[in-house]
Amino acid sequence: MHQSETSKDWKWQIANQISTRDQLDAYIDLTDSERAAFDEKIPLSFAITPHYAGLLKHAALRSTVIPTGYENHVGTGELADPLGEEDHRATPYLIHTYPDKVLFLATSFCSTYCRYCTRSRMVGKPSENAFTFEESFRYIEQHTEIRDVLFSGGDPLTMTDSVLDELLTRIRSIPHIRMVRIGSKVPAVLPMRITDELCAILRRHKVWLSLHFIHAAELSPETEAACRKLSDHGIGMVSQTVLLKGINDNSQTLTDLFYGLLEMNVKPYYLLQCDPVRGSAHFRTSVEKGIELIRSLHGNISGLAVPQYVIDAPGGGGKVPITGIEQIRREGDDVLFINYEGKEYRYPDPKNEL
Ligand SMILES: *Cc1c(COP(=O)(O)O)cnc(C)c1O
Ligand code: SF4
Repeated sequence: MHQSETSKDWKWQIANQISTRDQLDAYIDLTDSERAAFDEKIPLSFAITPHYAGLLKHAALRSTVIPTGYENHVGTGELADPLGEEDHRATPYLIHTYPDKVLFLATSFCSTYCRYCTRSRMVGKPSENAFTFEESFRYIEQHTEIRDVLFSGGDPLTMTDSVLDELLTRIRSIPHIRMVRIGSKVPAVLPMRITDELCAILRRHKVWLSLHFIHAAELSPETEAACRKLSDHGIGMVSQTVLLKGINDNSQTLTDLFYGLLEMNVKPYYLLQCDPVRGSAHFRTSVEKGIELIRSLHGNISGLAVPQYVIDAPGGGGKVPITGIEQIRREGDDVLFINYEGKEYRYPDPKNEL
């Protein structure tokens, strides 16, 4: 087949993942500093689909997927596991932080790796685990208080149809499970994965998608077609956006993204304060900036276009919606706030570190 036909196929995109500087050179003109970053140790996994590489003509997206020297800088309070997930691990694949929901880490593979990923400690890294899930299914069966299962990883939609179908069939066989979600960036980075066959599987198991988008530049015609197809199959979709300094931290950029998502039947759900993962200081805005941004949207744009601004409480306090400055207080380099259990948590937010 001619490349222009095969490149529409998701398996071709994964087989032709860009994971070295030489491969990247074939797609885009690297700047001197981007080039230099490859001469240093790159602590996080690196790969980009050819589809996403084609979007990197938009300057805003480049530093979110191309390594920079900043990744080697560990800022104040930054951790490999900022959300304390390892402390809430119920099985090798289940994170049980909240009372009635579990996060199910079904794969560590992504087609494209985000430089700010909260699970950069594990995504794209070799795992000792065999990815056999029986123990995890049994845990969910035994814990009848669990109603909501969120498959994440890694990106579960990079798994094959048959593996996904099996996983979803098993989880749907558990009577107390009422909600099944998959967290994925696939419609942005690998939109050709959204086939009619996949949609039929998601539909059959009544799956909601929680999609990851950071900028309207990701809403390519292919992505629009993918979301249209999902919508036509009746799949519920929400989005999560990580607030990123210099990339989407202004009202206009966020407004463009959120309206663009609504036009694709994707409801903006969360605007996430960037987690203090190691090497993320250059991506993180202050919490005050996040509050200013979300307040600039409330009332001024369609209420449906406004997500909740949340801080995922470091250490595992869960996501805390922040709507105003009165909800936080500062103590030195930390911002403190109260979670849903009434417990106080702190987010490291040093001024002018980078
Ligand atoms: C985000 C998250 C969930 C889902 O939270 P919602 O607020 O219901 O979307 C569940 N478990 C963990 C560990 C999470 O980080
Ligand atoms: S798609 Fe999600 S899991 Fe994968 S690297 Fe990006 S943020 Fe991490």
